[in-house]
Amino acid sequence: MLAIHDVHKVFPDGTRALNGITLEVQDGEFVSVLGLSGAGKSTLLRCINRLVEPTSGTVMVDGVDVTRADSAQLRQIRTKIGMIFQQFNIIKRATVLTNVLTGRLGVTPVSWAFGNRFRSQDYEDAMADLERVGIASKAHQRAGELSGGQQQRVAIARALMQRPRYILADEPVASLDPATSHSVLKYLEQVNREDGITVLCNLHVLSLARRYATRVIALKAGELVFDGLPDDIDEARFKQIYGQDAEELEIQ
Ligand code: ADP
Repeated sequence: MLAIHDVHKVFPDGTRALNGITLEVQDGEFVSVLGLSGAGKSTLLRCINRLVEPTSGTVMVDGVDVTRADSAQLRQIRTKIGMIFQQFNIIKRATVLTNVLTGRLGVTPVSWAFGNRFRSQDYEDAMADLERVGIASKAHQRAGELSGGQQQRVAIARALMQRPRYILADEPVASLDPATSHSVLKYLEQVNREDGITVLCNLHVLSLARRYATRVIALKAGELVFDGLPDDIDEARFKQIYGQDAEELEIQ
């Protein structure tokens, strides 16, 4: 379980990105985090594994206080948390398979990981994970040759190699067209349902949040302004929350 309590983030330049977020996420949920650009979605996700240091408040992951974890504990917590980014963050010159194998680095003895020497079990797992996201046939292609949607599926397979309990996805489909967005989100939905991986996914498209999430939260200026079921947030409610600014968002 994930328990975020009264988390604030003030960046060194004085920007208040989070203003006291309190949120509990139960195992197996697919939570979509909605909000305008600058609302604090990315900062919230990054506070969970301390890619961003919260200024105050606590984040508990499976009972361990991330905010007070030492480096060994933090490494341990991070192996449980797969990250997916808008820009895929894959190594374009390397093969798809190598990219997926790097997901194992946090849990592979350093001596093996050096020089890309993985165990044969790692190769088998990597191929199985590529199979799950429907691109096993691309394993030996350079990752940069794949389409955006396929590259994001490589990123999902890489995250799966960690055998994570959580996946944090920061605007995973913001660079993709609507059809491709579905092809990526359906795999996140699948690993959520089949493997019970808890998913937190930042999205700025209401219809996608409603389609894939089991729960939707909305942020506005660093505050939690909605927390409920996907069916409870329709276009009207969305406009009520964001006012004129809702027009900026794709809400079809
Ligand atoms: P979102 O993901 O909802 O677009 P972010 O979490 O990226 O929002 O940003 C929240 C606020 O924090 C914005 O005002 C943004 O400009 C600011 N911000 C994000 N990162 C930094 C940083 N490293 N330094 C200063 N301000 C930042």
